Amino acid sequence: MKAAVVTSDKSVKVEDKQLRALEYGEALVKTEYCGVCHTDLHVKNADFGDVTGVVLGHEGVGKVIEIGEGVESLKVGDRVSIAWMYESCGHCEYCTTGRETLCRDVKNAGYTVDGAMAEEVIVKADYAVKVPDNLDPAAASSVTCAGVTTYKAVKESQIRPGQWIGVFGIGGLGNLAVQYAKNVFGAKVVAFDISDEKLAFAKELGADATVNSLNEDPVEKAKELTGGKGLDATVITAVAKTPFNQAIDVVKAGARVVAVGLPVDKMDLNIPRLVLDGIQVVGSLVGTRQDLQEAFQFAAEGKVVPKVALRPIEDINDILEEMEEGKITGRMVIDFTK
Ligand SMILES: [Zn+2]
Ligand SMILES: [Zn+2]
Repeated sequence: MKAAVVTSDKSVKVEDKQLRALEYGEALVKTEYCGVCHTDLHVKNADFGDVTGVVLGHEGVGKVIEIGEGVESLKVGDRVSIAWMYESCGHCEYCTTGRETLCRDVKNAGYTVDGAMAEEVIVKADYAVKVPDNLDPAAASSVTCAGVTTYKAVKESQIRPGQWIGVFGIGGLGNLAVQYAKNVFGAKVVAFDISDEKLAFAKELGADATVNSLNEDPVEKAKELTGGKGLDATVITAVAKTPFNQAIDVVKAGARVVAVGLPVDKMDLNIPRLVLDGIQVVGSLVGTRQDLQEAFQFAAEGKVVPKVALRPIEDINDILEEMEEGKITGRMVIDFTK
């Protein structure tokens, strides 16, 4: 079967790969769609360490075609996700307190174990979350990482209905953050980006206001929108340092700033601002299986509609290049159904 494998020269090669036999608790999934995430770019570039030989992909959706011994949570024919959180230990302090994504022994699809950018993939049955029947599988692939990540981040921001939330970066994650914030949490949303095209997209998705940080002052604009107070929370999905700093500058005292984007960089934290204004800065990483179920459900209800474009697996290096150049609006999804 065809699989997109990371090579030692920081590229991806589509090659023929043979899968091993299923072990206890595993299931075999025939992939339908797999989204291309910015994290795939980091993995391919060895930003988190060299993983030559691994199959990329953690935004997978497909149908179970075989189950191994001991599997009770899935049956043949079920449509399931293959997410970044491939498996956790199940018994540590994080796993037993609803924070399984922080497990120190977590395995990640498309990074520490083979992922979903392949015609077939082996999953741990108990970690493959079922996709609702009425959710389009290509759209569901986008929820598997981008969707659940932004849903969880907005949850972590503790935003309440009617409050102002700022979303920094309207890429593959940000456009979904706008929709979850607006349509699920009932917040007022202001989108920040440096591309007018992406901001127009945010507006289309229901953002109440947009700011092009290249020619407008984010702080002034935030004050203008909130009667001089500042935003109630921000979520940063951008992949550059500047928006991380701006996201702190635009909030009011007591606000939460949730970091999601992963630039390999440091952010500045003004200590008096942090202490005197009681600002909380938190990191948020993907979501638990429960978060994913909820994120799927809201998408199935039509509250969140991922914008996806289908591409063949042979395009993978082109897609990663387009991503690096910031040319992508919405999500590129590898189509394995043809
Ligand atoms: Zn991802
Ligand atoms: Zn654990």
